[in-house]
Amino acid sequence: MTNKKRKRNNNNNNNNNNKNDVSKKNQQEISSASSTPKRTKSNQPSNFLQKILVLQMRARLSGGHFRMINEKLYTCTGKEALNYFREDSSLFNLYHAGYKTQMSNWPEQPVNVIIKWLKKQNPSFVVADFGCGEALISKSVKNTVFSLDLVSNDPDVIACDMANTPLDSSSADVAVFCLSLMGTNYQTYLEEAYRVLKLGGWLLIAEVKSRFDPNNGGADPEKFSKAISELGFNSVKRDFSNKMFLLFYFTKKEKHDSKRKKEIEWPSLKPCLYKRR
Ligand code: SAH
Repeated sequence: MTNKKRKRNNNNNNNNNNKNDVSKKNQQEISSASSTPKRTKSNQPSNFLQKILVLQMRARLSGGHFRMINEKLYTCTGKEALNYFREDSSLFNLYHAGYKTQMSNWPEQPVNVIIKWLKKQNPSFVVADFGCGEALISKSVKNTVFSLDLVSNDPDVIACDMANTPLDSSSADVAVFCLSLMGTNYQTYLEEAYRVLKLGGWLLIAEVKSRFDPNNGGADPEKFSKAISELGFNSVKRDFSNKMFLLFYFTKKEKHDSKRKKEIEWPSLKPCLYKRR
């Protein structure tokens, strides 16, 4: 694949109208919430306060929905997540609306740190953005970027489970995982990145700090790093200076030996669940 612009993957089910029960329920809740305030003859809410209450209730419902989808993504496999969004791709937009709200509370966005890093590298580097979300990397750099996510609302995004991408082997110079190692089978995403990367290619991982707090049920970053090294990477640099996220930089080394691969001990990464505000 040589073109940056990719046709939308047919796996994408944007037209699927099968809403799941929860989304139906919430829609009902939203519409009944909207009809609560008394209306005047002109069919306007009777007062300003009631209008505000309705807006607050809607925001709370969509916030709850975001937390539910988020929890689902952290506690299932990539395959299950793909099916989940196939049943109702509107959940993906809901997720990303909530994700943006969460991110707006962070002093720095990890994706911007990665974009800054990429801008200092060779512009001919081919980038694979695993779990690209709104494809901010592709929109910000001149490089060829293959943006991968479970749902594609954008012709530049390839819809797939990133454990199994349509990218050619040894075709990318950089593989990025920015807050996207969500599935319980996250190691299969890293194996896929290993396949897709050229020898010497970069693997960049940004993850939520709390997922790596061994005193609080999180993984030991040393064990995580060791497992990735055993997969066939050199750990080049780490940046743990940010309050919210960790950054790991690896490069792909020799072909890994399949016997060793089976012995790799992958620490489980604690789901990043958001509290109700
Ligand atoms: N990297 C983006 C988005 C992070 S949100 C950014 O930093 O802005 C995490 C994204 O990973 C979500 O869009 C989610 O759909 C995607 N994701 C999680 N598991 C995935 C999988 N198995 N395959 C493809 N994308 C996945």
